[in-house]
Amino acid sequence: MRPFSYARATDAGSAIAMVASHGDGAFLAGGTTEIDLVRQNVLRPGLLVDINDLPLNRVEDLPGGGLRIGALARMSDVAQAGSVVARFPVIAQALLLGASAQLRNMASMGGNLCQRVRCSYYRDAASPCNKREPGSGCAALTGFNRGHAILGTSDRCIATHPSDVAVALAALDAVVHTRGPGGKRAIPVDDFFLLPGDTPEREHPLQHGELIVAIEVPATPVARQSIYLKFRDRESYEFALVSVAAAMRVRDGIIAEVRLALGGVGTKPWRARRAEQSLLGAPAEEASFAEAASRELAPATPRPLNAFKVELAQRAIVRALTTLTNGETR
Ligand SMILES: Cc1cc2nc3c(=O)[nH]c(=O)nc-3n(C[C@H](O)[C@H](O)[C@H](O)COP(=O)(O)OP(=O)(O)OC[C@H]3O[C@@H](n4cnc5c(N)ncnc54)[C@H](O)[C@@H]3O)c2cc1C
Ligand code: SF4
Repeated sequence: MRPFSYARATDAGSAIAMVASHGDGAFLAGGTTEIDLVRQNVLRPGLLVDINDLPLNRVEDLPGGGLRIGALARMSDVAQAGSVVARFPVIAQALLLGASAQLRNMASMGGNLCQRVRCSYYRDAASPCNKREPGSGCAALTGFNRGHAILGTSDRCIATHPSDVAVALAALDAVVHTRGPGGKRAIPVDDFFLLPGDTPEREHPLQHGELIVAIEVPATPVARQSIYLKFRDRESYEFALVSVAAAMRVRDGIIAEVRLALGGVGTKPWRARRAEQSLLGAPAEEASFAEAASRELAPATPRPLNAFKVELAQRAIVRALTTLTNGETR
């Protein structure tokens, strides 16, 4: 048993002040990541500040067609929101393909972005893990790394980022809005997730006590034709081996606009910019999709156990773009 204190905040200012003033304080939203890791002795907060009473659970339309999602909005509520389903189906699909119905009812959007990696060595306090204990080594480099990343890796960490909805948000250029001891910030989602490099223990640029208050998705008309495909070892309640968030507009057979991001293969939700560049102006046909996928995956650094992800990601990209071209819905 490891004792910790619990406090329930009534407003954002006091939540931030409480966490900021305790070196080992942390926010508690749905608890589906935090409490698991406390139980496993991986996280050891001295104070948990419950933020569930803060008025941050709304999903609002922004003037001009954007969306503002409160940090405490539950995954299930966001997935069902009319404007999300109609205008950003890729977000709704990514959410519904994550976790289980019970978890989605508890899990918040802010907590989803801050969830920790699913690398089994990270969760096993007896294994070396640079993310849990900087400088201790990375057991996954030579261990069981079938589910690990092939893009954005370093010799310090190869864990994939586990979030599904973050992949959709990366494709849509969403922005994370925060409030902290230093004031307010707006962080583009692509900058919010950090590559492991030499500091895998830093997964995002949040300062201690900085609270995510909302996620804004800019108006993105192309997102009406969007899709999230997820490939995993079993059909539900499982993290992605490979996933694809895609949106595309085709005019006269030519790709006029495209958004593409990958999950399950990168150490962060992976915006596939090389593929996007390759696709723009190309005929909307399988050869273009395959070429774009190859370009995106060219820098991949697979290991013997996860080399299959290169081919799987290649096929997944082609499948997603073909499905959009054919106007099929999932
Ligand atoms: C069995 C299982 C299967 C899962 N499968 C999937 C899946 O397939 N796809 C997927 O995407 N996810 C999956 N998840 C992860 C799940 O979506 C996350 O656990 C959940 O979204 C976290 O939200 P929460 O509100 O419970 O966060 P918490 O557990 O309360 O918090 C998580 C972290 O975020 C911090 N935090 C929370 N809110 C804020 C905030 N507003 N500002 C700053 N920091 C904050 C906390 O301090 C903590 O460090 C799975 C989880 C489990 C347990
Ligand atoms: S891959 Fe990352 S999380 Fe997993 S053991 Fe290595 S350093 Fe830790």
